[in-house]
Amino acid sequence: MEQPSVINIFWFRRDLRLFDNHGLFRALKEAGNILPLFIFDTNILKRLDNFRDARVEFIYREVEHLKRELEKMHSTLLVYYGEPEDVFSKLSDSYRVGVLFFNRDYEPYARKRDEKISFFLKGKGVQVRTFKDQVIFEPGEILKTDGKPYVVYTPYMRKWMERLAETGTGNYPSEKYLKRLASHRPAGMPSLREMGFTAVSLGFPSREPCESLIRQYHLYRDYPAMEGTSRLSIHFRFGTVSIRQWVERAAAWNGKFLEELIWREFYQMILWHFPGVVDHAFRPEYDMIPWRNDEREFDAWCRGTTGYPLVDAGMRQLLATGFMHNRVRMITAGFLTKLLLIDWRWGEAWFAGHLLDYELSSNNGGWQWAAGSGCDAAPWFRIFNPFLQQKKFDSGNEYVKKWIPEFGTESYPGPLVDYRKARERAIQVYRQALAERKG
Ligand SMILES: Cc1cc2nc3c(=O)[nH]c(=O)nc-3n(C[C@H](O)[C@H](O)[C@H](O)COP(=O)(O)OP(=O)(O)OC[C@H]3O[C@@H](n4cnc5c(N)ncnc54)[C@H](O)[C@@H]3O)c2cc1C
Repeated sequence: MEQPSVINIFWFRRDLRLFDNHGLFRALKEAGNILPLFIFDTNILKRLDNFRDARVEFIYREVEHLKRELEKMHSTLLVYYGEPEDVFSKLSDSYRVGVLFFNRDYEPYARKRDEKISFFLKGKGVQVRTFKDQVIFEPGEILKTDGKPYVVYTPYMRKWMERLAETGTGNYPSEKYLKRLASHRPAGMPSLREMGFTAVSLGFPSREPCESLIRQYHLYRDYPAMEGTSRLSIHFRFGTVSIRQWVERAAAWNGKFLEELIWREFYQMILWHFPGVVDHAFRPEYDMIPWRNDEREFDAWCRGTTGYPLVDAGMRQLLATGFMHNRVRMITAGFLTKLLLIDWRWGEAWFAGHLLDYELSSNNGGWQWAAGSGCDAAPWFRIFNPFLQQKKFDSGNEYVKKWIPEFGTESYPGPLVDYRKARERAIQVYRQALAERKG
């Protein structure tokens, strides 16, 4: 019987684009006969408890788009819904697979999954090749001179910049080699509904913020009513833009913007070297804080009814759009952990469920920063005053009015806690917990 010819697979994951895709570039250039694959991973989807989760819709649309583009080139995208191990087991029964290519993912679940798949396929004689694509520098590439990881941002950032000057970002024009895809008839694709989700049509930010916005980034980034930030976070999360292209633009257009992109890699590096931060404070003494965890107050925070306008506006923006401005993320997180003394993990989980750009490393880093428990965090005694922050960054109340229609009327509640008293309480509780641990 005639043996089917060998095909090589490129597995798309958090790199949903055909251009400047490192793994895809190497697969096409060095192997050819590439059959692209995407898996709606049930291990991830089953953990989402909201069938209207817009992130699934975002991925779905991007996958459909990739498939259409690939079909224009007489290839296709195999799209499966299932556990990756089962999918690869089926694939290796249906095709003679030579090499599996994919770009590395650094989150704890992805690392375990990829190890399992690699082990399984290697056992079947399939070669597995992986590449760096999601970051400029992987966690082990920027280390202190003693070989240990950085735990403070500024020296990490300086070293990162030095390395960038030495190596550049790299350039992987996968789009030039697409004719080396395997020819294949169009494949089917499960519908959103079949996977248990429904479209919500929230609208997603553009992947091409204009150059002038980025050039003026340092001037307007802190004002939540303005379009002062890139809104690229969801695109970095799912790889619908290339980090290399954006780092090059940032380096040419705006240093402050580049620094923010480095924060993203800093937190990825922290999560890699210190995976315990997923459940615990980076600084163990902060695990001793006796959180009040008042459920009624937590609910008011979640719904945006605390009577602190900037906090409420942020929380309502999150519910309505899946996005919250960075300064407001810092204020809402500080409010929850310090003024309400609610465990940062509660807030982290709420953000994880609602942010379109949810990224374990940045979210955990942001929350531990706000709680004071993180590696390079706000000092525990620094407590944002949300009223002063509003005066400074939303002086015309434009942002709060946009998200709180009843702002300034009798229907808007008074403050859930008295700022001065809550601040004193936080300082006392933190001071005592940290002193007990030391003592
Ligand atoms: C409590 C809290 C939780 C957060 N959770 C997340 C999260 O789940 N996912 C996420 O991507 N960011 C998170 N951030 C960081 C930041 O708020 C968002 O990246 C930013 O608001 C996204 O909007 P933008 O794309 O317009 O950012 P811009 O200001 O245009 O920044 C450009 C890019 O730089 C990166 N970046 C910017 N600020 C940070 C930062 N502080 N830490 C890490 N990366 C940064 C992002 O990739 C962002 O898209 C969190 C911050 C806090 C304080």
